[in-house]
Amino acid sequence: MRILSLAGGIGGARFLRGLQAAAPDAEITVIGNTGDDITLFGLRVCPDLDTVMYTLGGGIDEEQGWGRAGETHAVKSELAAYGMEPQWFGLGDRDIATHIVRTQMLNAGYPLSAITEALCDRWNPGVRLIPMTDDRAETHVVVEDEQGRRAIHFQEWWVRLRASVPARQIVLTGAEDAKPAPGVLEAIEQADAVILPPSNPVVSIGTILQIPGIREALEAKTVVGVSPIIGGAPVRGMADACLTAIGVETSAQAVLELYGSRLLDGWLVAEQDAGVALDGVRVVSRPLLMTDVEATAGIARAALELAR
Ligand code: GDP
Ligand code: CA
Repeated sequence: MRILSLAGGIGGARFLRGLQAAAPDAEITVIGNTGDDITLFGLRVCPDLDTVMYTLGGGIDEEQGWGRAGETHAVKSELAAYGMEPQWFGLGDRDIATHIVRTQMLNAGYPLSAITEALCDRWNPGVRLIPMTDDRAETHVVVEDEQGRRAIHFQEWWVRLRASVPARQIVLTGAEDAKPAPGVLEAIEQADAVILPPSNPVVSIGTILQIPGIREALEAKTVVGVSPIIGGAPVRGMADACLTAIGVETSAQAVLELYGSRLLDGWLVAEQDAGVALDGVRVVSRPLLMTDVEATAGIARAALELAR
């Protein structure tokens, strides 16, 4: 069986670990979000791709959910000693090695998709991980505060400001001209089932869906989504701030309507959201907390069943 999944960072990676446990013989292809990518100190950082790669490859800091296990921060403190900005983004020493390899390969002319494949040769995540695009398309957030109205990089809003300043607009720069990375459309076409993990519907899944051609290709497939919102709240993180920014309520119902019945065939919601409904979409309710791999595998199994 060929399964295709989209993924942001922590939510996507945790779900994928359950999906692997639920379908050990399946061939899983993952289209990763690159809208969060940022260049820091000359290094190209791809937080969501790395979170998926480290989580499935056994290198993740389990407690934090991102970054490397056993991480140290000598480079970060040395940079701070020089007063180098930005100091709000936590680049660990081990993690930096990944970004050096990536940046060096980018500078040598390799596309991000080929680089991701090369990095995965070390980590063996057990899935084929493809960035949504090899082109530059970054999520920027329009904010308004004492300094006036301006667009900042998503990471500055998310990590430095902790989404505390309301976002007026969330934009994926370069989206119109971006092309799906090589293999993306083929993998969608060949998939027996498409599963949307409970990743952020705006800045993870929503971003991938903005790359021209991807949404259209997915609409032709059987797609089942897992709600990232339980009882009106994102389980962890600040997805509500992103939904509010695009005028969508933080509820399993509103996210279902945001994705719509052209894209979705099935929608998994938590038991407390059992009343959620939309014409043309089969809604099933069950526990949706990804507390451990076994519980997450149960969610993935339910999603695969719904896809069948
Ligand atoms: P990020 O890129 O690291 O922010 O991660 P993702 O976009 O892949 O996923 C983040 C989303 O996962 C959050 O917005 C939450 O709504 C969702 N999430 C986190 N934990 C759980 C969980 O246990 N169950 C469900 N259903 N959703 C979760
Ligand atoms: Ca992310």
